[in-house]
Parts: sequence; C-alpha cells; structure tokens
Amino acid sequence: MNLLNGKEVSAKVLVQIAQEARDLSVQPCLAVIIVGDDPASRIYVNNKKKACEQVGFRSLEFALPTETGQEKLLSLVDELNRDASVHGILCQAPLPRGYGYDERAVCRAISPAKDVDCFHPETAGKLLLGEAGFLPCTPAGVIALLDDAGISLSGKQVVIVGRSNIVGKPMAILALRRDATVTICHSKTKDLAKITRRADILIAALGKLHFITAEMVKDGAVVIDVGMNRMEGKKVRGDVDFENVAGKCSFITPVPGGVGPMTIAMLMQNTLTAAKMAANIC
Ligand code: NAP
Repeated sequence: MNLLNGKEVSAKVLVQIAQEARDLSVQPCLAVIIVGDDPASRIYVNNKKKACEQVGFRSLEFALPTETGQEKLLSLVDELNRDASVHGILCQAPLPRGYGYDERAVCRAISPAKDVDCFHPETAGKLLLGEAGFLPCTPAGVIALLDDAGISLSGKQVVIVGRSNIVGKPMAILALRRDATVTICHSKTKDLAKITRRADILIAALGKLHFITAEMVKDGAVVIDVGMNRMEGKKVRGDVDFENVAGKCSFITPVPGGVGPMTIAMLMQNTLTAAKMAANIC
C-alpha cells in the first residue's frame, strides 16, 4: 500500500503558487467571510488564512456576529464584489441556523469572477459544459493528488459515494473529463458494497465515520477518503476504515493529511487564477 500524502503534495503546489504570485504585478487577495462561532468553521478559516500567508497573498477576514442577518451579509458581499483589490471571495459554510440565512442566495451573490469556491451556478454550469473557469477545490485536489502519483483515470471505474454539490457531483464531472467511467452512489443506492467493489478508484465523500470497510473495497483499488468527521477534541477521522482497508488497496489517502490540505491548495490556485484574470493575464 502507498500513501497519497496530501500534506506533501499540497506543500509542493503551494511553493509553485507562491513563485507565480511573486511574478505577478498584483498581489492576489482572498476575502473570507465567517458568520457566527462554529469551532470547525474557525479552524477551516484559520487554515485558509495560513495558506494565504504561505503563498504571499493578502487575506481579509470578515468575522460577523451570528445575528448579522442575510441583508447585511449580502451587502458585504456586494461591497467585496465591487472592490477591485479583492480577487476571491468565499463565505464559510455552514451559516448559523435559525437566523434566516439563505446559503444559496449568498453563493449566487458572489461575482462569478471572484467565485473561488465554485458555488455560483454560472461556475457550476461552466464546469458541466467543460468551459474554462475555476475548478471546485476538493475534487480538483483529488485529481491533483492522483496526478502527482501518476495514477491515470482514463478507462477506470471510478465510484463516488456521495452526491453533494460540493464534492460528489463536481468530482464526477472532473473524473469524466479524465475519461473515467463514473458511478455516483448515495443514501438510496441499493447493494452499495457490490458497486464499490467494482471500483478501480473509490472516492468516499459521505461524512460517516469509517463507513467504507475492507469488504467494500476491491484488492488493489485506489481509495480516496474525502470525509472529515470531527471526533472529541480537534481530531479528524475519515469515512474509510483506514486500518483495515489500507492492507487491501494500492493507494490510500490518510485523514488528516490527505484530501484536506489539497482542497486548500486548490483554493489558493483559484485565487491566483482570479488575480490573473483581473489583471488580464489569462
Ligand atoms: P453532504 O452534503 O452531507 O453529502 C453526503 C452525501 O453522502 C449525500 O449525497 C448522501 O446521500 C450520501 N450518503 C449519506 N449516507 C450514505 C450512505 N449510508 N450510503 C451512501 N451514501 C450516503 O456532505 P459533503 O459536503 O459532500 O461532505 C462529505 C464529507 O466530506 C464530510 O465528512 C465533509 O466534512 C467532507 N468534506 C471534506 C472536504 C475536504 O477538504 N477534505 C471538503 C468538503 C467536504 P443523499 O444525497 O442521498 O442524502
């Protein structure tokens, strides 16, 4: 079994991004909005800020109180859309419940030119049609990890467990672009283990601790664990029963240190692209 080490690969990607950023005439800038005090969201936002520092980007944080409200949130997005010095904007999910927030409306309000999280319908549409644009961070991170290890997707059976707009669906589109034969599974899928056992590349993105067991994996498969299940304290564990699955597969991602750092690296990549587009460089 070989480990697909996202920490190492993302560090290489960040070095490359930092180099490109140094050669730009503008300093890329990412604005992150966080509403409320969800501890997991705080960790994610801090990690994004740290990555910005690492690659020499300017980062702006807008930490808004839980009761800010949709209207004020949208007017901040509008302000950031109009600020030419800001290249990427993201609003950390989830927004607090019970305060009338509409997450989709916030995603739609972010200018597609600054939509580095790829949640705007225009960005999603371009992705589906194969037009140039930002790539969804987590799925693009998975592809970059596979590329780094020299694992081709062409002609492979790729099975994705999870059909969310953030991971499962865009993951399927990126795998299709690489000529994989893709199956997407979800909570209503029958005989799930029969399908996952067909996978040359199995991607778990369901958010259920150690759900993928050794019996669900074909010998020699590549197993990608997108899941991030928070345990007591700050520990994070995956959707794959790593201990028992690792011995059966050819490659596997650890959690933490697998897909997570790649997601952040791809966010930096999108912010760089946004800055280049703003400067008419690409
Ligand atoms: P989500 O929106 O909750 O979607 C979960 C998906 O899993 C749904 O499509 C659901 O099916 C499916 N599912 C749930 N139980 C299932 C079961 N028993 N059998 C088959 N499918 C099942 O989650 P998400 O946002 O995609 O995130 C998934 C996981 O990835 C979470 O742990 C999240 O924290 C993690 N994540 C990690 C990163 C990273 O950077 N590493 C980034 C994003 C997300 P239905 O559609 O039928 O309900």
